[in-house]
Amino acid sequence: MFIFTTKKAKAGYLILALFPFLLGANMIDSGKIPIFNAFTGKTELVEKVHKSAAEWKKILTPEQFKIMRLKETEAPFAKLCPMPPKGKNGIYECAGCGTDLFRYEEKFESGTGWPSFWQPVSELNIKLTTDSSHGLHRTEVSCARCGAHLGHVFDDGPPPTGKRYCINTLALKLVPMPADPQKAAFGAGCFWGVESAFAQVKGVEKTTAGYMGGALKNPTYEDVCTDKTGHAEVVLVEYNPQAVSYEDLLDVFWSIHDPTTPNRQGPDIGSQYRSVIFYFTPEQEKIARALKEKLSKSKKFKKPIVTEILPAKEFYPAEEYHQKYFQRRGITPTCHIPKNLSR
Ligand SMILES: [Zn+2]
Repeated sequence: MFIFTTKKAKAGYLILALFPFLLGANMIDSGKIPIFNAFTGKTELVEKVHKSAAEWKKILTPEQFKIMRLKETEAPFAKLCPMPPKGKNGIYECAGCGTDLFRYEEKFESGTGWPSFWQPVSELNIKLTTDSSHGLHRTEVSCARCGAHLGHVFDDGPPPTGKRYCINTLALKLVPMPADPQKAAFGAGCFWGVESAFAQVKGVEKTTAGYMGGALKNPTYEDVCTDKTGHAEVVLVEYNPQAVSYEDLLDVFWSIHDPTTPNRQGPDIGSQYRSVIFYFTPEQEKIARALKEKLSKSKKFKKPIVTEILPAKEFYPAEEYHQKYFQRRGITPTCHIPKNLSR
């Protein structure tokens, strides 16, 4: 494992070292530079940012302009460095161009009155230059993409680097790291169409067709079709709660099927096709029950809504040929088309 990691790291350095040669004159002509994206973990080629003083003044506050473009330094302890919510991480980006600069978890309390970090997200994203102003010999840290002055780096930081990147608060913009994906599970008839509908929802990161709610362990499709296992055909949805809410997913759920027909969706008859929400948290249960009641009262459906709301049980992924069924075959589904039932 250690050897593998070392080899991988060496290969990484080699690629970085060769970057300008691999890209040749093209990179120089287009003004593109490699920048590390701390959210995706990938290095991307991006255009350098060039703006006139007048253009920067439109984006930056007068204080930010003085620091980032005129290399002034904010007074120590003068500004409160933004922090991510408790228990969460975040990335400090360049307030001028949005380049990822430092991770919250690599910030430390230096007692100097300026935000201090022991390393940047990547050496690619910052530029170090010798600064001999004020009769001192310091190393200036600036943004590699837009050239903004950020601060200085000193050799009195904590391990493992021993560096202290001393940065002006106003040069930084905190972007919290996205929350962990959440799970939701819905049964709304044949899972082919249900999966196709949820896969298209913005903020849904993964969908899997499968079985839930029955007694038989590791059921096959044939087992479920006997109508004796108690399983429903469901789609397990993994979603980013910052991009799509559970309420929005429920809107999709109720809009793609008829929740008033017990154990049936159109021509598909049997308990495997029942309308069911499997909740993973008490919060999901609360929201599902509240929205079901609201929808019932709205009389958008002529008959009573029979959707079951149950705690999630073990999820069994369906056979491979059921996964992304329509998508793989290039078929546009004619069922489970979202309708507008907006609350
Ligand atoms: Zn920048």
